[in-house]
Amino acid sequence: MFSAVFRSLPNCVAQRLTAAYFRAITFRSQGLHSLSTTEQVSKKMRVRVLPALQDNYMYLVIDEETQKAMIVDPVNPSTALEAVQEENVSLTSVLTTHHHWDHAGGNEELVKRHPGLEVYGGDDRIPALTKKVSHGNTFSVGKLQIEALFTPCHTAGHICFLVSSPGEPSAVFTGDTLFIGGCGRFFEGSPEQMYKALVEILGNLPDDTKVFCGHEYTVANYKFAKHVEPHNNDLLEQDARAKQKRERQEPTVPSTIGIEKLTNPFMRVCESSVQEHSGQHDPIATMQHIRREKDNFKG
Ligand SMILES: [Zn+2]
Repeated sequence: MFSAVFRSLPNCVAQRLTAAYFRAITFRSQGLHSLSTTEQVSKKMRVRVLPALQDNYMYLVIDEETQKAMIVDPVNPSTALEAVQEENVSLTSVLTTHHHWDHAGGNEELVKRHPGLEVYGGDDRIPALTKKVSHGNTFSVGKLQIEALFTPCHTAGHICFLVSSPGEPSAVFTGDTLFIGGCGRFFEGSPEQMYKALVEILGNLPDDTKVFCGHEYTVANYKFAKHVEPHNNDLLEQDARAKQKRERQEPTVPSTIGIEKLTNPFMRVCESSVQEHSGQHDPIATMQHIRREKDNFKG
């Protein structure tokens, strides 16, 4: 109803309403869902974890050598720019995982307040996009190398960004494709596509790759994961750790690809335990089954 009315408004009115909405959301999210933390991924890279909205994460990724930085999914430009100032770094680029407003909705305002930024993404629906990327495209920010991994399914243009420097552990920013202990809903794609994204693309990254996802959904995801694999000891251990962190309001990010392969049912659709739970014999049918089951899971 609201969106139908919204679409019928003249552009300038719609833009003003959107801006007012963002101010309201920003104000409400002063009491943030998590603390802002810093993760030293390697000697060459540090990541500021920036909570936003109800359960979103934005990330400021800093090249230690040049102090150049990029920001991932800056839905709240004020918080993003405050972090840039606090860290005293030079922001050059925006990485947008997908076009949903809670990831891409801050792009236009950020570019207005910080002109000259390159905005990377894989979907023409992303506001302020300047560099459209597809699978395997690479670019750099300072000395850090970024590779675009095309992972359509949650949305048709979803990109995960792999950030690395030679000989050091990497970080992957997975938006709403891979969550800790779960995955995004299949809004614009198929179980085959999510299988390809999680098992063939992300699952083939080195185990020590740090995973930074788009939302703090970990504890709820583990509840479902335990329903699928109640006897998975790695999962029970990670679940206990996540609950302790949430009691202290700490983010559960980052995870690693290695941990996800041991605990995340959507990355484990080739395992007999997950297939047996689903009553399926092949990984893609298992993917479809557990996604449907999770969509209706009350816990
Ligand atoms: Zn999304």
